[in-house]
Amino acid sequence: MNLIETKNLICGYGRMPVVRELDLSVAAGEVVCLLGANGAGKTTSLLTIAGALPKLGGAVRVTGHEVTRARPHEIARRGVSIVPEDRGLFSKLTVAQNLRLRRHRQSGVEIDEVLGYFPMLTPLLNRQARLLSGGEQQMLALAGAFVADPKVMLLDEMSLGLAPIIVERLLRTVRAIADERRMGVLLIEQHVMAGLSIADRGYVLAHGEVVAQGSAAQLRDDAELLEASYLGEHGAIEEAEARGLV
Ligand code: ATP
Repeated sequence: MNLIETKNLICGYGRMPVVRELDLSVAAGEVVCLLGANGAGKTTSLLTIAGALPKLGGAVRVTGHEVTRARPHEIARRGVSIVPEDRGLFSKLTVAQNLRLRRHRQSGVEIDEVLGYFPMLTPLLNRQARLLSGGEQQMLALAGAFVADPKVMLLDEMSLGLAPIIVERLLRTVRAIADERRMGVLLIEQHVMAGLSIADRGYVLAHGEVVAQGSAAQLRDDAELLEASYLGEHGAIEEAEARGLV
């Protein structure tokens, strides 16, 4: 069963559509990359799936339930956890307090188990979030999303401003969580090749439309197409069609 499924989803602001006819799915244990240039509509899509922006058209199902008109907390209750671009941490609270706050349900993942995936947080439990490095903060943001025991995580540009080695470590942790807990992950990643290296599949958005989709290996091998999509070149759609990626 797909944990997330969108059909002809239209996303935007006010009445202005920014993303059109988005058909996307994420299955249990699957890591799916949402790729595309700045302004392509990636964040807008993620926020709309999470219910933070109203849907302008189409439908969204989460764990098999229709959530097209549901509010963010209802979608969260269905098992969707989002890590926004600004990480959403409580900066004056400690690492431990941030984790306890996010573990709002009795059924949440035990803190010790979470620390097993993020061992670097263990010596930092009593440190305020604002005093952590960028990489540590991102780890805490991920751990905070994970501690609520979601079925699917939506991750927005978690590597923003981080060193490549930290990005790799975070991505490997995401892969391990998906594999070991059968969690679905929808990932926006600016380090395209790093993202695709741990992903199963990917979608490329350009100007609010999916211009290519396929297995991570297919997309990795098609650097030219990826580049064309990123540059928003005309012809990206035709090129993708010719290569069987749409
Ligand atoms: P980035 O990597 O730059 O975040 P993105 O693919 O995530 O790019 P979005 O942030 O989803 O792109 O933006 C898609 C389009 O929606 C852009 O043209 C942007 O200007 C527009 N947009 C974003 N936020 C708003 C808003 N609050 N009101 C109106 N338009 C917006």
